[in-house]
Amino acid sequence: MQAYASIDERITRFSHLDQAVRIISRIQGCLTKGSQRKPAQSRQDAINALVKSAQSENFSVDIQKLKGAKCVAMQSSISKLDPFLDQKGFLRVGGRLQSSELQSFGERHPLLLPKKSHLTNLIIDYFHRKAAHQGAEKTLALLCTHGYWIPNGRSAVSSRIRGCVTCKRIRGQPCNPQMATLPSVRVNEAPPFTHCGLDCFGPFLVKDGRKEQKRYGLIVTCMASRAVHIELLEDTSTDSFINAIRTVTAIRGPIQSIQCDQGTNFTGASKDLQGNLLTRMNITMKFNPPHSSNMGGVWERQVCSDDLPLSPNMLLTMKSDVVLPPPSDFSDTDFYSRKRWRAVQ
Ligand SMILES: [Zn+2]
Repeated sequence: MQAYASIDERITRFSHLDQAVRIISRIQGCLTKGSQRKPAQSRQDAINALVKSAQSENFSVDIQKLKGAKCVAMQSSISKLDPFLDQKGFLRVGGRLQSSELQSFGERHPLLLPKKSHLTNLIIDYFHRKAAHQGAEKTLALLCTHGYWIPNGRSAVSSRIRGCVTCKRIRGQPCNPQMATLPSVRVNEAPPFTHCGLDCFGPFLVKDGRKEQKRYGLIVTCMASRAVHIELLEDTSTDSFINAIRTVTAIRGPIQSIQCDQGTNFTGASKDLQGNLLTRMNITMKFNPPHSSNMGGVWERQVCSDDLPLSPNMLLTMKSDVVLPPPSDFSDTDFYSRKRWRAVQ
């Protein structure tokens, strides 16, 4: 049979305060057979017994000092709390709130709990659950309002909450998967637009006489250098796509391989070009698997960049930032100003 040194050691088998309290209450009920105690009273008696036991085990020197000299030693870790023994022999915080009538006796003089004790852990867990797994501050506030004080309590509560599985589940960060190695066409040198990625974007509304028509864009990005070529598509048909590819190869030179998603115009073009044109042009088409929206980031990212409207200034300067005017208000009188920079604005 296992021998236990103390009650605190005995209750280490319980992971919930309620379990420990229920068992202690049952034992007390057996010892005081015949006396009619209400459930709430028996629960409070059990908690009191546990707290008293924990205090006598961890603050025995201080309690002996208080019984004799009425004050604890200056070297004691709780001397700054001005502790005292109440009428029932519990060690309580003295503090400076003796005259306060706003709080109950328990709040003014909370019960001292040892920092490292299984009972303290169970009580912290109990109030942490009662605080609906909110942070350490909320748990600590509940502990104080229910009449418990832990020396250096913030760190004790924080370290206890760090081990809470529910909190870890609620606040856990998703684990990012390790990215696969880049394909060889992305990391080896090759002439521009030898290996390309494609995607369509749009539609954009354009005026054709009195009519408004839809036009699309075909973005062709070089896998090695990330250079971008944008080609106009009349519509999303296969014919339009083949024409655009012919234009790209005429301007940028022969393309060896094309990667794209399984758009109907791309797959249609692949079938059309399979026999003759594709072989003659020596182009290999490689499609992403269906429904794999996670693939093709190389060209999808470039499609995002195309949201900015292109202007002649951007083509000349290769910058998308707008040059802002000088920060001031100008009027007609500035024409005659002696400040020349204002006159020229
Ligand atoms: Zn929690």
